[in-house]
Amino acid sequence: MTKTPLLNNGRLPPALMTRLAADYALHDLGAEADPQAFLAAQGHRFEALVTSAARGVDAAVIDTLPNLRVISSFGVGLDKIDRAAAARRGVAVGYTPDVLNDCVADTAFGLVVDTMRGFSAADRYVRRGDWAAGQPWPLSRKVSGQRLGIVGFGRIGQTIARRAGGFDMAVRYHTRRAVADVACAHEPSLLELARWCDCLVVIVAGGAGTRHLIDASVLDALGPEGFLVNVSRGSVIDEPALVQALREGRIAGAGLDVFADEPNVLAALFELDNVVLLPHIASGTVETRAAMADLVAANLASFLSTGRLVAAAPVV
Ligand code: NDP
Repeated sequence: MTKTPLLNNGRLPPALMTRLAADYALHDLGAEADPQAFLAAQGHRFEALVTSAARGVDAAVIDTLPNLRVISSFGVGLDKIDRAAAARRGVAVGYTPDVLNDCVADTAFGLVVDTMRGFSAADRYVRRGDWAAGQPWPLSRKVSGQRLGIVGFGRIGQTIARRAGGFDMAVRYHTRRAVADVACAHEPSLLELARWCDCLVVIVAGGAGTRHLIDASVLDALGPEGFLVNVSRGSVIDEPALVQALREGRIAGAGLDVFADEPNVLAALFELDNVVLLPHIASGTVETRAAMADLVAANLASFLSTGRLVAAAPVV
């Protein structure tokens, strides 16, 4: 039987590539010396495209695929997929929500504990030999029982709130619309939430609507005793303003899994001991990446056989 052509525009785990290559005539656009020439000559062959949240797919690529019917993305972030362009063409978009909630929430909580207790900095202190040399190590901040503010209260934000329950933390959240049937209080003002909490965790959707949502005014509302954790998208934070606030002690510390220009991280952040830097690994466990791969494959198989996705992205 002839295999259905499938175009890959993303950076996918090797095991998923192998699996897709077994089921489809998989073509990796990234391996093309001249992707645009390839798309101009061969784009009409593809009804299906697979990508990753980090790469997405823009309108220019969608326009070169006149017969495209479905996009299946590895990840839950939709900020790099031009969903408006897809909708205009009637192209369905599948993604991988829910299966990564636990690991992203675990990472957020790991960063909450690490930044407030200073574990990564303490690890550097031990390795430097400062402990053996009798250098003092400062006291850190208690995590249990403190106030946690969550910016974004969707699938992952609510999972983070459940983690906070185990630490007896008071939780409030900020979104544009209050969420029904949840125990935590909605705070309509982001500035008020930042003023109220000891640690502010950011887990909103990325994209133009949330660009620099966390700016100097929010950081100043958080204040010199406050900590910031970001596991959403780097674009949500005004990074130069964050560097300045950290340098000047206008906030106490930050834990970051995501950055504006990945994999490049502002060099100024390397010099700060009150920052924990992770290489965008919140969903990066064997179990969760396998579940995401299963959903990418299931979305494709379901759409191509029934016209319906298992997990369809909201249409814009
Ligand atoms: P959901 O769509 O379930 O939740 C998104 C939340 O963001 C909603 O509560 C929404 O509420 C809120 N939101 C959107 N815009 C704004 C705004 N302008 N101001 C305040 N709140 C806003 O998404 P998930 O919880 O599944 O995922 C959230 C994001 O986490 C993803 O979009 C992705 O970018 C990121 N992510 C990062 C990962 C990593 O590896 N670090 C891994 C997985 C996800 P409302 O619309 O009412 O404002």
